[in-house]
Amino acid sequence: MKDKACRIISKHPVDPGLSGWYAILPEPEQGQVLEQSITSDWLVIGGGFAGLSAARRLQQSCSSERITLLEARRVGEGPAGRNSGFMIDLPHDLSSDNYATETSEADQSQTDFNRSAIQFAHEAAKECHMAREVFDPCGKINGAATQKGMAHNKDYARTLALSGEDHEMLDAAAMKEMTGTDYYLGGLYSPGTVMLQPAAYVRALADHLRPSIGLFENSPVIKFSRKGQNWLVETPKGSVEAQKIILAVNGHAQSFGYFEHRLMHVFTYASMTRALSEDEIKCLGGRSSWCLTPADPMGATIRRICGVGGDRIVTRTRFTYDPSMEISKDRLESVGQSQQKAFNRRFPMLGDMKMDYIWAGRLCLSYNGVSAFGEIDDNIFSACCQNGLGASKGTFSGMMAADLAMGKSSDHLTQLLKQEPPSRLPPEPLSWLGANALMRWREWRAGKEA
Ligand SMILES: Cc1cc2nc3c(=O)[nH]c(=O)nc-3n(C[C@H](O)[C@H](O)[C@H](O)COP(=O)(O)OP(=O)(O)OC[C@H]3O[C@@H](n4cnc5c(N)ncnc54)[C@H](O)[C@@H]3O)c2cc1C
Repeated sequence: MKDKACRIISKHPVDPGLSGWYAILPEPEQGQVLEQSITSDWLVIGGGFAGLSAARRLQQSCSSERITLLEARRVGEGPAGRNSGFMIDLPHDLSSDNYATETSEADQSQTDFNRSAIQFAHEAAKECHMAREVFDPCGKINGAATQKGMAHNKDYARTLALSGEDHEMLDAAAMKEMTGTDYYLGGLYSPGTVMLQPAAYVRALADHLRPSIGLFENSPVIKFSRKGQNWLVETPKGSVEAQKIILAVNGHAQSFGYFEHRLMHVFTYASMTRALSEDEIKCLGGRSSWCLTPADPMGATIRRICGVGGDRIVTRTRFTYDPSMEISKDRLESVGQSQQKAFNRRFPMLGDMKMDYIWAGRLCLSYNGVSAFGEIDDNIFSACCQNGLGASKGTFSGMMAADLAMGKSSDHLTQLLKQEPPSRLPPEPLSWLGANALMRWREWRAGKEA
């Protein structure tokens, strides 16, 4: 922790490329920018899964108190609105070969956490009247394109069977019937995942909160300091004096001076086709909406979507470790080219289908796979570092940070507080070299799954 008196936040979020999820939605109404000095009982910083869930939780319990949320960009422009939309209930450890964590006990508690987040999101979706294409409790499939992928699926199915989790193995014919392509040899279906249109989901949550809280967009926090017992938080055009703060900025916790040398900043990349024509839809075949995570965590996530914006296919591949939290335009372009090849391999029947949108987004991971959670300064509560699974983990950490700040107790909170803090990373450039070399090797090893 550096000088507590006054902290300048010099690094602000940069989100490369226009996310297709955001672009296919109607233009949002004009957001409110913070342009005055206000006081508030509660301040939430960050309008992603964690921040919006924290604000909702506060609003449910402290409706008579003043709650303010500051978001650096428009809600939905950041990572929460540019991900693949899998709100997953089961353990999904990207560093393992088949997503399971090290112990079945850890798997069970992670599943409990994720399911309570999904339940919370479910209630929000109902209250916000979200359409099925925005919040769809349809489950997901781990698609396997290689014998190795099939073996990962079998291993994972064994873990699920041991813990009594529902699942079903799909053969190549079932995969083709669903996706229209014969690329996949098999799949492993599990029913508990909710599929989001991520930008529409966070936007709907924000719209629902707006009448009762002060929600300010394009209002990045640039400075914060102590003012008596309170915190004074400044944006370019205004300020908030607040008693308690929930910091929900994922990897940018580091830009606020917390968890330095403990957070790994990783980018992953996505693209969305143009809307398919009637002829292309016929030629592709399969169902109008489906979703695949790869059997090998380093492989490609693929979704077919329909509804607002038409029928499209969304692809996500690749991970790069970028401690600067920024990537170049060239990188985005070159990953876009390799992603196009991954798409063409799967859907040769669509010819040279071009992508309307190519984008990237930040994940934040810790070396020991834990979140950056808890009271990290007097009345500052962190709900950061979602280890790549922010839809459910971010929702959960936002709920729990609000509970902690309100002085509530629960078994879930007790368990979460028992977790180790994020461990220290090896020094740079060792971390950069090591992490990128490992990811390139694992991607290479994933072969046709990528
Ligand atoms: C292509 C892609 C695919 C992904 N797929 C999935 C998936 O299928 N399922 C899944 O669970 N996860 C997925 N993820 C990861 C997921 O998007 C993140 O884990 C999640 O967004 C983290 O949620 P969060 O609320 O903690 O942080 P964020 O979503 O990053 O929200 C934090 C917010 O804080 C704001 N902020 C930062 N600094 C400031 C500041 N100074 N002042 C004010 N506001 C600030 C940011 O603008 C941002 O909106 C994917 C990510 C990408 C990029």
